[in-house]
Amino acid sequence: MARKRRVATTSKPKPRVDAPGRQRRSVAPQRGRRPKPLPKAPPPVELAGELPLRIGHGWDLHRLEPLAPDGAGRPMVIGGVRIADGQLKSGPVARSDGDVLLHAATDAILGALALPDIGELFPDTDPRHEGADSSQFLREALRRAKVAGYVVGNMDATVICERPKIGPIKEQIRLNLARLLEVSPERVNVKGKTHERVDAVGDGRAIEAHAVVTLVLRERVGGQG
Ligand SMILES: [Zn+2]
Repeated sequence: MARKRRVATTSKPKPRVDAPGRQRRSVAPQRGRRPKPLPKAPPPVELAGELPLRIGHGWDLHRLEPLAPDGAGRPMVIGGVRIADGQLKSGPVARSDGDVLLHAATDAILGALALPDIGELFPDTDPRHEGADSSQFLREALRRAKVAGYVVGNMDATVICERPKIGPIKEQIRLNLARLLEVSPERVNVKGKTHERVDAVGDGRAIEAHAVVTLVLRERVGGQG
């Protein structure tokens, strides 16, 4: 349909414009009248700490060294699962057990809560964490989430290393991670990648993990954050 061209005249007042290029014909200009005040806007819904959903990301990397007594490497633990691979001659260097996946998972939860990260809460300079089972860090992060009113919605994690091969142990790691996060296994995903023999991870000199988590608002369960 062809548009009719409007010819503006100088004698008539200009009609009110709602949006660029669009003219309202029905509303006549109201000279000398004050516009009605708009109703007050409701207060913002997203009050601090009460978002219905929070997303967190965690990343971790550990240097790998030959196992003791040849080096400072600890026996490999991933997602709370001790890796029984006789071919594995190196392990993570860490104050704790060096569980790269649980560290990333812990940081994801703390990150979602906008809390200090795992290194600040559990410094590796603290001798109390010598050889510590990293599931305790994850439990503490989860406790803080509950105190703030949240439970885990789901987690997606990726472990990157040359050895061990994650494929055969992926399900075991996923089940254990779900148990630690207190959710059903369908809410947890674990992927294994290599670093294509590039850089330190690809050379087998480091292991890396990423974790993304959603926290869902439930209700506050008491206690101190
Ligand atoms: Zn770590």
